Amino acid sequence: MAFYELPKKFLKCQNLVNGHWQDSTSDKIKVLSPYNCEQIGEVPKTSAAEVNEAIKFAQAAADGWKKTPIKERSTYMYKLRDLMLRDLMKMANVAAAESGKTVQEAKAGILKGVEVMEYALSLQNLDVGGTIEVSRGVTCEYRREPLGVVAGIVPFNFPAMVPCWMFPIAITLGNAFVLKPSEKVPLTSQLMGNLFIEAGFPEGVFTIINGDKTTVDAIIENESVKAVAFVGSTAVAKAVYQKSTALGKRALALGGAKNPNIVVPDADTQIAVRGVLDSFTGCCGQRCMAASLMLAVGDVDDVIKQIVEAAKQIKLGDQMGAIIDTPSLDRIHEYIARAEKSGAEILLDGRSPQAPKGFEKGTWMGPTIIVADPDHELVTTEIFGPVLTIVKVKSLTEAMEIEKKNPYGNACSVFTTSGAVARFVTHNATAGMTGINIGVPVPREPFSFGGTKDSKFGQGEITGEGSLDFWSDRKKITTKWTAQDDKNWMS
Ligand code: NAD
Repeated sequence: MAFYELPKKFLKCQNLVNGHWQDSTSDKIKVLSPYNCEQIGEVPKTSAAEVNEAIKFAQAAADGWKKTPIKERSTYMYKLRDLMLRDLMKMANVAAAESGKTVQEAKAGILKGVEVMEYALSLQNLDVGGTIEVSRGVTCEYRREPLGVVAGIVPFNFPAMVPCWMFPIAITLGNAFVLKPSEKVPLTSQLMGNLFIEAGFPEGVFTIINGDKTTVDAIIENESVKAVAFVGSTAVAKAVYQKSTALGKRALALGGAKNPNIVVPDADTQIAVRGVLDSFTGCCGQRCMAASLMLAVGDVDDVIKQIVEAAKQIKLGDQMGAIIDTPSLDRIHEYIARAEKSGAEILLDGRSPQAPKGFEKGTWMGPTIIVADPDHELVTTEIFGPVLTIVKVKSLTEAMEIEKKNPYGNACSVFTTSGAVARFVTHNATAGMTGINIGVPVPREPFSFGGTKDSKFGQGEITGEGSLDFWSDRKKITTKWTAQDDKNWMS
């Protein structure tokens, strides 16, 4: 079987409004597959008027969904989880076709999304509220209350996983959820919408509104929308966060990243080589947890040599996908050209790659490895491609200084066999997610996902326990049914 199968038919994306697919009369955007740059679908730029119509139904659904007990809400989410697993490969193929990642990567992303669903399903059995008898005959109780209509705006690089970071917990907690997929990868969400219909969710609990900036603005401006979750680039994350909070909404916006992998001389060579390589080449470097920076402490030349040799062996298509589109590919090439001009040493140049047979027109590039000075633009800029920048430093302290100056704060990992080094790095790193001997330190549920600095705007986390206060309010109820013997200020 080919590593990737073209979708059999061209898909005209629709919006999912009140549980039914609906055409938009707005202009359309072409959806191209990065594998061959051929058009595989089109997506509407839904207008503000259409957005507001759709959200009216979501608001009506939210009122009923809030009154549905969490155990009953969870029965729908169980069905959805099972349907996602049933259609895993179908969905993985579509996600790969539109995002350019390999089918295996697309499958892994969906399974990570399913894990969030499973966490959401556990909420019905957790004490998400809690009661204490605070004095004789008087109890205080916490009760989780949904917010109403909440929205999620998502990026191109994980067409299924990032929506699944948001809607399972938001919906299980009793909210109606509005998804705005990336206009570059809207097809996977169409499959997801079908599964919501098949699972029998009440109409309007899950809404899909396609579009671009204008659509996002209309969603944020809609009065019914009480919370906005965003995942994407830092510039847009900041703008969405500022706009949402200025309108008095709850907002959590995750942005870009520049994650360092610190390699010290006592590291296990095999683990370090694999960890660094997989981190910067996985998803063709297009993930917010990619470590595109290696801080080489002291003499780790053998590790560097082995990374370069292993990177040369990577077969495009089978082991590494394509760049999302031509403007992104051009931008990455420009960074490499500028680095070359500035005198940075290019150990491996992926600009003239061997495209997979039959997919020569795609936006491919091979792994690229550059040695640069600590103050080079490549050290602090998110390239979002398979480009590893190596900075050679003399000490761990010097490495941590570079980590501290990094404007982003998503992840930081260290490769070492020393407990003291591991502790030093995890204690001093400014990033929100740190790792030891792991190139992509993504926390698995129930641990929350989230960075710091320019990688996150807003409080709380997008998944896990840290997300509960974002997707719900804690109502406080104080009760007294009987006369109290011991009088106090509450009597
Ligand atoms: P992007 O910011 O271009 O787009 C993200 C979403 O915002 C899309 O749905 C898009 O339609 C919308 N959008 C674009 N411009 C907008 C504007 N001006 N106003 C309002 N909405 C707008 O991001 P992308 O290129 O799709 O995704 C890649 C970026 O996402 C990278 O920077 C990556 O690091 C980041 N990312 C971060 C995380 C994380 O957890 N921190 C996870 C995945 C991706």
